[in-house]
Amino acid sequence: MQIKQLNWPHFAERDPHKKIRHLVVHCFAFSVSKSLKLWDKFGVGPHYMIDNKGQISQFVGENKVAWHAGKSCWRGDSGLNATSIGIELYTPSFGQKPYPKAQLDAFVKLATQIIKKHHIRPENVVGHSDIAPTRKLDPNFSFPWKEMAKYGIGLWPKKQIKQKSLKRTKTLLKEIGYDVSDEKAALLAFMRHFMPERVPVDRGAVDKMEENLPKVIAKMPKEDKEIRQILVDVAAIYNKKN
Ligand SMILES: [Zn+2]
Repeated sequence: MQIKQLNWPHFAERDPHKKIRHLVVHCFAFSVSKSLKLWDKFGVGPHYMIDNKGQISQFVGENKVAWHAGKSCWRGDSGLNATSIGIELYTPSFGQKPYPKAQLDAFVKLATQIIKKHHIRPENVVGHSDIAPTRKLDPNFSFPWKEMAKYGIGLWPKKQIKQKSLKRTKTLLKEIGYDVSDEKAALLAFMRHFMPERVPVDRGAVDKMEENLPKVIAKMPKEDKEIRQILVDVAAIYNKKN
């Protein structure tokens, strides 16, 4: 695996009491050169970036904190910069069109290595929008989580649970790991991850995706049987004590 080293100046030392236990997947739509300028201006950046041809660049060492997650929460942990490694994927469609194979191949190699090295549990491999559902949409609905789960990157339900669950939607979302202080936003983040074909967005609005989030949330459809079923199935695998 060829990795270009960038020696990024924006990072912090890790707190030795905070073990690495999350892998956060992002995407960005501006060109690589424009994004580097913007991230540098704001003093942020991931650990790694993979361009759409599969070239990997490393910004910051894994033993340092990189600034990629912002205000975030997952399964009771908050401020995930302190405990995570972040990978940015360049996608001009902002994750609305399929990710190129070369890019995904590189992602699988890199993510597998990181997961093994730090013993990251599959339920802690997340998208930025999973951990910041009111603020973020990336890596968006085209990131192939189902396919990734075949490589041990994240979790995906294998079977349908036949019994009807009486648990509230909010409870199920919380059991998976979502911050449910805004339930609609959490449910939409869940759908981007586990029901990409049902995401109620204006698929044409590429440039304004982040700004459109409040509108997207307003368009949230009424909960239906299919959403319930998948919620129950996903909550069951995230809850499994293994
Ligand atoms: Zn992000």
